[in-house]
Amino acid sequence: MNDDIERILFNEEQILDGIDRVAREVTAHYRGSKFTVVSVLKGSCVFASDLIRRIPIPLELAFVSASSYGDGTESGRLELNFFPTDHEIRGRRLLLVDDILDTGKTMASLAEAFRARGAEEVRTCVFLDKPGRRAVAFDADYRVFQVENLFVVGYGLDYAGEYRNLPFVGALRPEVYSRPAAASGETLGA
Ligand code: 5GP
Ligand code: MG
Repeated sequence: MNDDIERILFNEEQILDGIDRVAREVTAHYRGSKFTVVSVLKGSCVFASDLIRRIPIPLELAFVSASSYGDGTESGRLELNFFPTDHEIRGRRLLLVDDILDTGKTMASLAEAFRARGAEEVRTCVFLDKPGRRAVAFDADYRVFQVENLFVVGYGLDYAGEYRNLPFVGALRPEVYSRPAAASGETLGA
């Protein structure tokens, strides 16, 4: 698996330092009030689990799973595969946590879906941000790292369903994309 990585962008130590910084910002915002961290599956599960353990104030945890289908138009359609109950949303302050902000369609649509279901406040936190790829006007309230326009894996991020368990973030060797075996399995996203 490590042999498929061309270059490491962020190692474990850098990742945890970055998360410490964002955890402090999040803690300062929510101190004294109840809030729920909503982890966007599957990609953000590693990030969310490290992030919440660095936030030393009460919080609840929820999960959402969605796929956005970019159709070249402004919004893109969002298919919700798994969604928190109304009880977990209505009147709550939510912090949506995702692995990476790319076109922005997933987070923009999800934030809207939670607001429409009665969330009191919706904020967003991403591990990685590719601002150069944005297709909709959207920025996260919190982000750990900005990355250039290249496809990255590891620390929750997959290629064809694999590499999520790498403890660092890296760029795949171009040969990996052209391997026939990788063409089957999961598509990008989620
Ligand atoms: P978007 O912001 O385009 O709606 O979608 C973001 C989603 O696309 C992420 O949650 C992630 O699943 C996927 N994605 C975007 N860029 C990358 C990348 O560089 N690597 C991986 N593994 N997934 C990506
Ligand atoms: Mg995702």
